[in-house]
Amino acid sequence: MAAVIDGNKIAQNIRNEVRQSALEFKEKTGIVPGLAVVLVGEDPASQVYVGKKAKACAEVGFLSREYKLPAETSEAKLLSLINDLNKDHLIHGILVQLPLPEQISTEKIIAAIDPHKDVDGFHPYNVGGLVTGSPLFIPCTPRGIMELIARTGIDLKGKEAVVVGRSNIVGKPIALLLLAQHATVTICHSRTKDLPSVTRRADVLIAAIGKPQMIKANMVKEGAVVIDVGVNRLENGKLAGDVDFNEVAPKASYITPVPGGVGPMTIAMLMKNTLDAARNKVSKSKLRNNF
Ligand code: NDP
Repeated sequence: MAAVIDGNKIAQNIRNEVRQSALEFKEKTGIVPGLAVVLVGEDPASQVYVGKKAKACAEVGFLSREYKLPAETSEAKLLSLINDLNKDHLIHGILVQLPLPEQISTEKIIAAIDPHKDVDGFHPYNVGGLVTGSPLFIPCTPRGIMELIARTGIDLKGKEAVVVGRSNIVGKPIALLLLAQHATVTICHSRTKDLPSVTRRADVLIAAIGKPQMIKANMVKEGAVVIDVGVNRLENGKLAGDVDFNEVAPKASYITPVPGGVGPMTIAMLMKNTLDAARNKVSKSKLRNNF
């Protein structure tokens, strides 16, 4: 029977560490890390996420600002806000909540964020950095997964890792991070032939699909580490992951639950990225003063 990885507990530990580090950083520099969260429209799920982010900022002692813009906001107006935030010295991290309404190009907006404030890690500069192994920021969910794996004491070197899903926000970045830790990585997607035969090879299986309970016991190798990224709302209102937990848990060595696995790590890593952004700014200005 698998050990269940407690994402709530690990995320709480990380928030405690960030709060302590932010306090020490403030004592040394007088700077309070600041995060701006921009929400366009009234998508209920997005409103919940934005609320959680503000709450986490308060918990770790960050400055947090929310910008709630109406659904009909123009692209030019949003670009102008991003431009102001790029120049705002009190703000170290900028997060634009996705998805955006259709009149706004997500690509253009992400590209307009200063890469040094791109705490979501979605700017092409940071995506490129992830490929070459030196990003300023790693996207929060994949970074959270790596932290869960590291803090559980799982060594990835030489392991077969299989990622199901190839999105820009989860599948592709997690595959690159696993590769950087010397796993042998396979990425699967909706056109993969005979998916179970591929997933059964995995020592570490990451499910980032968006299909409730799709990963069944016959798709998992005995003793595998199973990380479930999926968050799916069932008809009865309950949340379910992409993994059939009851079937798979008896076969796995470690498994993350939904909720309470990867989910809480995402916001904890956003706090960590924002602290890093504030620290990077200080080291950059020190560098400038030295030359
Ligand atoms: P996307 O919809 O962007 O990507 C889903 C991926 O799964 C695609 O690459 C798709 O393949 C693949 N896929 C779909 N159906 C199948 C199938 N039958 N067999 C194999 N592959 C398949 O989703 P995201 O990556 O954004 O999110 C994935 C899940 O993770 C969702 O449930 C989401 O809610 C959750 N999530 C959770 C977060 C958290 O904080 N816990 C954060 C972000 C996401 P193809 O490319 O061929 O279409």
